[in-house]
Amino acid sequence: MKPYRHILLAADFSEHGELVAERAKDLADRYEAQLSVLHAVDNLPVTDSIYGPIIPFDVNITEQLIAAAKEKLDKIGEKLGIEENRRWVEVGSPKLEIVRVAEEENIDLIVLGSHSRRGLGVLLGSTASSVILHAKCDVLAVRLKED
Ligand code: AMP
Repeated sequence: MKPYRHILLAADFSEHGELVAERAKDLADRYEAQLSVLHAVDNLPVTDSIYGPIIPFDVNITEQLIAAAKEKLDKIGEKLGIEENRRWVEVGSPKLEIVRVAEEENIDLIVLGSHSRRGLGVLLGSTASSVILHAKCDVLAVRLKED
């Protein structure tokens, strides 16, 4: 059985993200695998922002969201010791971007949460279930506490 060589952490910046990140980091250490982190900035209008309390709507929102996401990703990256060029912000649907990038970057394990704060009470959120269904590599859905 081949060990994992490149692990992708899908980070949504939710309050449970730390547990998912710890799991990804632990697996990367155990397997001596490369660890990368991805956040997808969904290009849908934002009503309940995870990036901060105020989002101005009169300028290019996507650019601001990307910049805010990069900042958050840098914090996670620094904490986990992930090199700068392995901290990826993509624009698009998280479920599609995670699968696309995983394929492009030859990821062999995707680590994500079983749900986000939007999915509390749901056994498997829509991102996790879609990624499990469509990814060509292994996927670890970290069971979050509220499940
Ligand atoms: P959800 O299906 O939205 O409940 O989210 C389940 C998991 O998918 C989260 O715990 C994250 O690991 C991942 N995820 C959700 N949204 C994003 C996003 N925008 N970017 C990267 N990963 C995400």
